[in-house]
Order: sequence, then structure tokens, then C-alpha cells
Amino acid sequence: MDSLQTFAAAKLGALERQSLRRRLSPTHRHDGLWVERDGRRLLSFSCNDYLGLSHHPAVKAAACQAIETYGAGAGASRLVTGDGPLLSELERRLATLKGTESACVFGSGYLANAGIIPALVGPDDLVLIDELAHACLFAGAQLSGAALSVFRHNAVADLERRLAAERKDHRRVLVATDGVFSMDGDLAPLDQLSDLCLVHDAWLMTDDAHGIGVLAQGRGSAGLFPDAVVPLQMGTLSKAVGGYGGYLCASAAVVELIRNRARTFIYSTGLPPASAAAAIAALELIEHEPELCALPLAKARRFTALLGLPLAQSPIVAVRIGEADDALAASRALEAQGFLAVAIRPPTVAAGTARLRLTFTARHHDADIARLAEAVRPFVRT
Ligand SMILES: *Cc1c(COP(=O)(O)O)cnc(C)c1O
Repeated sequence: MDSLQTFAAAKLGALERQSLRRRLSPTHRHDGLWVERDGRRLLSFSCNDYLGLSHHPAVKAAACQAIETYGAGAGASRLVTGDGPLLSELERRLATLKGTESACVFGSGYLANAGIIPALVGPDDLVLIDELAHACLFAGAQLSGAALSVFRHNAVADLERRLAAERKDHRRVLVATDGVFSMDGDLAPLDQLSDLCLVHDAWLMTDDAHGIGVLAQGRGSAGLFPDAVVPLQMGTLSKAVGGYGGYLCASAAVVELIRNRARTFIYSTGLPPASAAAAIAALELIEHEPELCALPLAKARRFTALLGLPLAQSPIVAVRIGEADDALAASRALEAQGFLAVAIRPPTVAAGTARLRLTFTARHHDADIARLAEAVRPFVRT
């Protein structure tokens, strides 16, 4: 075997021995609620399609219509010929929902973070980031070449100490956090982070991938903290919005700078027309149906109440198991009872904190949530 094949096989063997090898499971999502795997129908508590919009008739119809009118692809970067007419409408709607002057759409949430951060800070600067923030915020911070300072999860005092000690050595400072943490479902204290950022002249950036569409009538996590100043709000169109794509909502000047400097915006093809149209239709529903937007959190709270877990703060509920193989066993036990509840293992989460990560959607029935709670009960550590 040549060295590349040997390397790959050895790496995979090591992952396998640690129960960390991952495998794709071909999954047919029929309607966003039920999925089919290996010929079995499972009720999914693992999709991020919080409002079921990926299969909403109006959203699907808008995507099909856009393909008929504008074709399957954007054709080029937005700055060349890829700036189709749907994209500016999508950006207007995002800015309206978030209450910002402007918005900028990217190919995905990951691409957004990989582009935004290096466009704003560089080697003379500092990025402070919550230790549990999403991998793509870290990727963006690393690409920027700025100094990186990782503060303890939601620990405002730790962030304050770091700002007091490190701020003076840097030109510009960005503080980045998830608004809703993707693996725990808890919220960042945006009011306190905002206060600190104002005192230290730091720019607060939230990744609201799991907030848009499901918190504060769909406005997202910043909407829960009306006094917080969050000048950089990024997120994704791939979760509650049901499709694909990423965005930044910010001031007109910041968005214009991003369009000029973010490499994942400049050197990557524009979002396909179908994705833009789907997102527009989904945002239309989110704007007009606040009762729908409130359901995922209500369903998650029903579940946490049944098991005596801390009150859910978002549609994501983590049931900590501990070791990776125990989490896999729990997931398999739930699958045997007809539930899809994926185990999340290191390195996605810290060693010893493998878990079932459950997500609740507007479309889950209360009776099914009660059945799930009984199935999960044996795995809840007290
Ligand atoms: C899913 C996710 C992303 C990535 O968004 P994509 O559009 O799927 O690339 C970014 N941040 C957080 C917190 C996420 O959960």
C-alpha cells in the first residue's frame, strides 16, 4: 500500500477503536418528521428543520418555480453574474426580520463565518470566542490570523478578565458566540456580553443558526435581549428556514464591506435560485405565523418537564450520557423503539460528555413526545 492509503487506514482504525468512527446512514426524509433508514420508518428527533419548512408545500413550490424561471444554478459569483434578482429580496427580508439595516447572503452558514471574521479582523487583532461556539466560528477566527482567546462557556467574568488583560494589546476586538448553543441548547447572555463589548470597544458577533425562526417570534436570540447591541448577527437558512444558505445581518456599511472583502462571498458561486426562493417563502411564513415559531420551544419544554430536566431554553435538549459507546448504545435502544435520536460524540463535544441531542419541531405530536420521554428516562442521570 502507498503511504496515503496506509495513513487513511491507520487513522480510521484508531477512530474505530475509540468508538469515534462516523458513518453515513442513507436517510430518506419523507416529510421532515418521519425518516426511513435501512427500510425502517423512524420518528426523527434529530433534524434541525424546526418548523418543518423543508417540506412545506409553499416552500417547495417556490423552489420549483425559481428553477423554471432562473435555472438550477447562479452561474457565477455574485460579483460577476451570479447576483440573481431573488437574492436582494431575500436579503431585504432577512434584514427586516432581524431589524438591521442590511443583510448579506452566503452559500452556507459555514462559509459565512469563514468569510465574515477574516474580513473584519487580522493579525493585529483579537478574537474572543466561547469555548462551546460552533466549529465554523473557530475556523473563521483561525483564518483571520488574529490572536485567539477562548473564554469559558457563558462565563461573563472570564470574558471580562480577558478583555481587561488583553484588549490594550490589540487594535480591533471581536467577541464571537453562538446565540443558541448547538449541542446544549442553552442561550448566550447577550445582554451582559453586549455591556462588556460596549465598555471595551469590542464587536459582538452571534451565530444564530438555531435561533432564527424559533425564538422571539422568529427574530432569533438577539430578539430575546432587546437592550443588547449585537452589530453582527449571522445565521443559516438550513435549519428553521428549511433550505440552504447562510447570512449576515448588520449595518449597511458592514454589509458593503463584507461584499468587498469576504473571500467566501467573492470567490464562491452565488446561492442557487431555488435556495433563495425557498428561503423567501419560508421567511414569509415565519413573519406571518408567530404561533408556528413558538411551537418548537413549547414542545421541548413539554419534554423537559416530563423528565424533570432543566427547562429547555431552545428547541434543542441535550441528554448527557458520558462515554461515546454508552451514547451510541442509548441511541440504538431508542432506534429499536422507533425513534431517531442521534448520539453526539467527541470531537463535536468534549470527551466524557457524549450525549443524545434531541431537537423538537413544530410538527411533533404531544403523544409522541410523551413516548419519547419514557424511552429516554432510563438514560437520564440523576
Ligand atoms: C449548522 C450550524 C452552522 C453551519 O450552518 P450551515 O448553513 O449548515 O453551513 C453554523 N453555526 C451553527 C451554530 C450551526 O449549528
